Amino acid sequence: MPMMTYADPTQYETYEWFTKDKDGRWVSGDPFKQGEAKCAGAGKVPDQTVIPKEVAEQFLSQDGTYWQAWREVDKAEAVTGINVFRITQQFTLPTATIAMRVPFNYTYLQLLHEKIRNAKFPGVTLELIGTSGEGRPLNIIRLDPLDKEWFETCPTVIVYAREHATEHDSSWAVMGMLRRFLLADPTQRKVRWLLVPILMPDKAISSSFELGDYFRAVKPVMPEIISYATYFVNLINKGKRLDIVINIHNIECNEGANIECPMVNRIYKEVVYNQNDMLFKEANNYGYSAGSPSGWDHGIMGLRLSGWCFVKFRTLDLYYEVNSRYPRCKMTLSQSQQLGAVIALSTNTFTTSAHYRVLRDEMTKWLSQRQSHREEWWKQIGHSENQRTEFDLLTMGY
Ligand SMILES: [Zn+2]
Repeated sequence: MPMMTYADPTQYETYEWFTKDKDGRWVSGDPFKQGEAKCAGAGKVPDQTVIPKEVAEQFLSQDGTYWQAWREVDKAEAVTGINVFRITQQFTLPTATIAMRVPFNYTYLQLLHEKIRNAKFPGVTLELIGTSGEGRPLNIIRLDPLDKEWFETCPTVIVYAREHATEHDSSWAVMGMLRRFLLADPTQRKVRWLLVPILMPDKAISSSFELGDYFRAVKPVMPEIISYATYFVNLINKGKRLDIVINIHNIECNEGANIECPMVNRIYKEVVYNQNDMLFKEANNYGYSAGSPSGWDHGIMGLRLSGWCFVKFRTLDLYYEVNSRYPRCKMTLSQSQQLGAVIALSTNTFTTSAHYRVLRDEMTKWLSQRQSHREEWWKQIGHSENQRTEFDLLTMGY
């Protein structure tokens, strides 16, 4: 079932959602709104500016306690045998947008970055790490622990979406994590989070799906890949950690449940099963449908950012598919974000577990060996990281 809106899809507020509290007042889900600004009246629908009043009720949930500017189209059917997908819709206004799921577009990302810059939340930094091939900024949203000791010793988790640039639900999961972190007490933060809602902005703009095996020294290497690889290699070279990388994708319709694991790192198999088991049970508790904790496939995805981090830094790489349009359990925008928060919380819990401590010790040993191999490499090759080639960076990870 595709979604539709009469709101302007390039406006930040088009993606704001509201829930009714126990006193019947509408409350905005926007993490950048504080105090009274969150309140949106006590009417049948919330006070908002993106959908004209006369049609706003069309966007109300059945039980009347949730509102977002996106609803399903009136009717959609697949005509079997002739490959026709038919949408029937009675339009009330002359302009509407139809999408297969609530989009998370590049314009929205820019508006989100602007909000982050202006809000100046403690420990939240928008890092600029490079420029895409078409000249767009590449950003990482970094959330640091405020406590001095945790700042130095905490685990680092990177979460990214849109390696497959057309898979919008994945970005909403990352946004949901960010929302959760911004609403939580920052003094309790014990993990450094690096969030990338759209990994490949140029591909997202042109809606082009590519395999994503970008992390190899075969010309032409995209400037995006040099920027990301340089950022992570420099981080490790400075003695920092990169403990976990979560790579989020988006399946559609009946391809799978609300959350699935498409790939299990076969070296870390047991750890991944355990982690998935905990996460999927938690997802079930929140009302989501979840696939099998043992995933679809086993292997090493060494040419994707996630698997490359495993191969080069021994980072635990986790893979999830999210699906807001699963027919048996469709998700609102709020639920798409909440699912991201559930992934973040279970990752947080994992970093306090015995499994993680064992893994962390292994990683530490592995990284110290890497350090000596790296020094030998520069001696052997006759130059240092100042003249780093694509081979040094991507194939060696130095
Ligand atoms: Zn994908």
